[in-house]
Amino acid sequence: LSQSLNKAWGMVQKDARLTPENMKAPLREIRRALLEADVPLMVVRPFIARVEGRALGAAVTKGVSPQQQLVKIVYDELVILMGGKQVSLNVPEGGEPQVILMAGLQGTGKTTTAAKLAAFLKNKGGRVMLVATDVYRPAAIEQLVVLGGQVGVPVFERGLNVPPADIAREGVALAKEEGMDTVIIDTAGRLQIDATLMQELQEISSAVRPTDTLLVVDAMTGQEAAGLVKTFNTTVPLTGAIVTKLDGDARGGAALAVKEVSGCPIKFVGMGEKTDALELFYPDRMASRILAKFDLNDFLKQYKMISGMGNLTSVLKMLPGMSGVSDKQLQAVEAQYKVYESMIQSMTRQERANPDLLAKMPSRRRRVARGSGREEAQVAELIAVYTSMRAQMQTMTRMMALSGGASGLG
Ligand code: GDP
Ligand code: MG
Repeated sequence: LSQSLNKAWGMVQKDARLTPENMKAPLREIRRALLEADVPLMVVRPFIARVEGRALGAAVTKGVSPQQQLVKIVYDELVILMGGKQVSLNVPEGGEPQVILMAGLQGTGKTTTAAKLAAFLKNKGGRVMLVATDVYRPAAIEQLVVLGGQVGVPVFERGLNVPPADIAREGVALAKEEGMDTVIIDTAGRLQIDATLMQELQEISSAVRPTDTLLVVDAMTGQEAAGLVKTFNTTVPLTGAIVTKLDGDARGGAALAVKEVSGCPIKFVGMGEKTDALELFYPDRMASRILAKFDLNDFLKQYKMISGMGNLTSVLKMLPGMSGVSDKQLQAVEAQYKVYESMIQSMTRQERANPDLLAKMPSRRRRVARGSGREEAQVAELIAVYTSMRAQMQTMTRMMALSGGASGLG
């Protein structure tokens, strides 16, 4: 997404201000980039209209190029599209336990996320209980029991023969008795929305009257995200969503659609399979991420581009400030790049797209080191260099967006 957006920025020529004419091409590019990222059309259309309207109305600010202005407007509108600010879980009234109902299709990550959420709230000092209501597969209950064990949270279950709504009701009653702060109810999903699933969800919801009903959405969900969110929202009033698997190759289209379609904020995002891979959702950070995606593939591409032009050493010498650098030093830089390249080539696609996996897991670093004939410390160094470069890129994009000065949001 960010690469095509970069192309769009380049299209705003050096005109003094944004006009319908000079905006046509970049807006088309932005629209295409969003659709390519699987943002539903019903979200893209009004988004583009809002960006256009605002860009045309924007006053000319001294020292701000139209390009910077458009970046700023798109950034602002992305933030607004995703709800503006971080929204936390609802707080129950009158000493009642907090009841969180997990909803969503099968395989989206409900069970995993229920455990992650339990760990998150437990770490904040809460007493948490998990409730298993997926009575269709014995393995589903077992999965929650195992995950609950991992995060040190009790799991209430009644086997496969009790109606889900009854299990949920009993679970909440028990949690009250035991003075729990939070009950998280895991539910069954289906591959497709069907009447049975929706009715079951409704029954659970009226049995326990949740403080939060969270729709779990896989980040890979494409154009159908809009319809999905809508249907769930009319069945059980949603209070929020959790977008999972944002650590993968996901294009993030679903994340941009949730708020617009349901009015509900995304409250958390899932960033991995482990029980600690849950993060609060910040619209501004997500917008920066969308505008400034920079992963190891980009890193490698940039290097390849430079080396493709011939001798890296001679290219580096042409850079300002590099003339005083000796050939020997430049050769060292080039050699270093070669080392980086060999290590990046030994990484999986997922690792290249999400280098944080390597930052977190020594076992992955060791595997890459083995595969490329390097030391684990060298892999760690590459990740450190990459991480600081990424931070610089993100700061730059953010500054560029903020310097646009086209709105009061910032
Ligand atoms: P459910 O059917 O909705 O309960 O889905 P599960 O919780 O069983 O998860 C389905 C699969 O998605 C499992 O293999 C999980 O490990 C995986 N998963 C869940 N959340 C994430 C995430 O944030 N990132 C990644 N990479 N995998 C996830
Ligand atoms: Mg499940």
